[in-house]
Amino acid sequence: MNLLYKSTRNSDKTVTASQAILKGLADDGGLFVPVSVPKLDVTMDELKDMSYQETAYAVMKQFFTDFTEEELKHCINSAYDSKFDTEVIAPLVKVGDTYHLELFHGATIAFKDMALSILPHLMITSARKNQVKNDIVILTATSGDTGKAALAGFADVPGTKIIVFYPKGGVSHVQELQMVTQKGENTSVVAIHGNFDNAQSGVKVIFEDKELAAELDAKGYQFSSANSINIGRLVPQVVYYVYAYAKLLENEEIQAGEEINVTVPTGNFGNILAAYYAKQMGVPIAKLICASNDNKVLFDFFQTGVYDRNREFILTSSPSMDILISSNLERLIYTIAGQDAQKDVELMTQLKEKGVYEITAEMKEGLKDFVGGFATEEEVKETIHDTYQKTGYVMDTHTAVAAHVCAQYRKDTKDEKKCLVASTASPYKFVRNVMTAIDPKYDEMEDFALIDELEKVSGFPIPNAIKEIRDAEVRHTTECDADQMKETVKNILGV
Ligand SMILES: *Cc1c(COP(=O)(O)O)cnc(C)c1O
Repeated sequence: MNLLYKSTRNSDKTVTASQAILKGLADDGGLFVPVSVPKLDVTMDELKDMSYQETAYAVMKQFFTDFTEEELKHCINSAYDSKFDTEVIAPLVKVGDTYHLELFHGATIAFKDMALSILPHLMITSARKNQVKNDIVILTATSGDTGKAALAGFADVPGTKIIVFYPKGGVSHVQELQMVTQKGENTSVVAIHGNFDNAQSGVKVIFEDKELAAELDAKGYQFSSANSINIGRLVPQVVYYVYAYAKLLENEEIQAGEEINVTVPTGNFGNILAAYYAKQMGVPIAKLICASNDNKVLFDFFQTGVYDRNREFILTSSPSMDILISSNLERLIYTIAGQDAQKDVELMTQLKEKGVYEITAEMKEGLKDFVGGFATEEEVKETIHDTYQKTGYVMDTHTAVAAHVCAQYRKDTKDEKKCLVASTASPYKFVRNVMTAIDPKYDEMEDFALIDELEKVSGFPIPNAIKEIRDAEVRHTTECDADQMKETVKNILGV
C-alpha cells in the first residue's frame, strides 16, 4: 500500500513520502502529515528479538512506502552504526522506579542525532527518486543542538552541502566549540552578529528568494531544510518508542499487552508527537506526559485548551526547551480537528496575528491521552541532586524536567503504570548546571575541569564528542552581520 502525505493547511493535494522529505515544509506553510498513521504489521513478539536497525525498518517501511527495501535498509544501516557509542543505539536504564530511554549515544550526544543521522540519507535517496540533479544545500539556523547534529549528519555526504548560522555569543562554549571544529569538506559554519531570531529570519528570507533560487539552480544547487518540521525527522523518532516497549517486554519488566506511560521533555513537540504516533501504530502506551520547563505554554494549553505565546521568554538551564512556539503541535491540532485544514488555518492565523488561540470543546476531547506538567529551575536541580544521591545516576537538565514531571504525575494521580522517561541529552553537554546541582562547590571550576569531575562522579566515560573538542582545530571562523547572510551563502557556494 502506498501511504501519501498532505499538508495540515490543505487536504486536497497529496505528495509521496520522498517528496515530503525533499520539501520539508509544504508550499502553503503547513506541515506534512500522513493521510493516516499506519499500524505495525509485525507483532510485539517478533519485535522483542529485533535489533535497533531491524525495528527501524519495521517502523519506517510503514511510513516511507515509496522507498524500496534496499534503499531504506541502506539509509538505516548508514545512520545507526559505529557513530553511536553502543550497539543497542538507545539503551534502556532502570533508574529508581522509572525507565530512562537514553537517546544521547550518537555523535553529538543529544537526541537530535536519532533523526539527524538518518535524514541526510533519506534526503539524498529522495532526491534520486525524484530525479533531482542539483546538489542539496541545507541551510540551518541554530541555538545549539540542532546545528551540530545536522553538521555531523551531513558532513561529507555526497550531493549535499550544509551551512549553519549561529548567533555569536548566543550559544554555550561547548556548543560553539562543537560547531567551529566540525570536519567535512561540505560543511560551513557562520557566526552572525545578532541573536537566534535574526539568524532564523535571515534563513527564511533566503529560502523565499526566488531570484537566488534561480541563480542557484543554474549552478546546480537547491535549498532544503533540516528543521524538526521535516517528516524525515519525525518518523525516525517513532522507532525508539517501539523499540523501548519491545525491550521492556524482552527483559520481562512488563507483561504482554501491559500499558505504560511515557514522559517526554518537550520543546518543539516533535519527540512527544513521535510517541503519539507510536501509540497509534499499536504500541500499548496509556498517557503521553508532556514535560515543560518554566516556559510552560504547553502545560497551560493542556490545562485550558488555550495556546498563548504572549508571555515572557525565560532562559532556563534546559535551553533546548526554551521555546514559545512549538511548531510540531500543528500536526496534533490538525488531527484533533478531525483533519480539518480550514480549522487549522484559522487557529494558526490567530497564533500568527494575535499570539493566541483556543481549541473547541470537541477538539479538547482528542487531547485525553495527553497530560501536561512542568518543572521549575529549583525542581530540576533537586531532581538531579536527589536522583544522584539515591541511585548514583547522573542525568542532564532536560531529562530532569521529565523525571520531575513523571514523579509528580505519579504522586498526584496514583497511576501505578510503569513509566518511560525520554532521556534527551548527555549530562556532559550541560556539565555546569548538572555538577552544581550535585554540589554547589563545583561552580568555581572551569568547564573542562568539571568534565573530568563528572566522569568521576558518574562513572560514564567522557564521550568522544567531548574529547574531540578539547584539542580540535578550529576550522570555521567566518562571521557576518545579520543582513549579510545572503551574500555569505553566495560566497560559500561560489555563485
Ligand atoms: C530538542 C531537544 C528537546 C526538545 O525536543 P522537541 O522534539 O523539540 O520537543 C529536549 N531535550 C533536548 C536535549 C533537546 O535537544
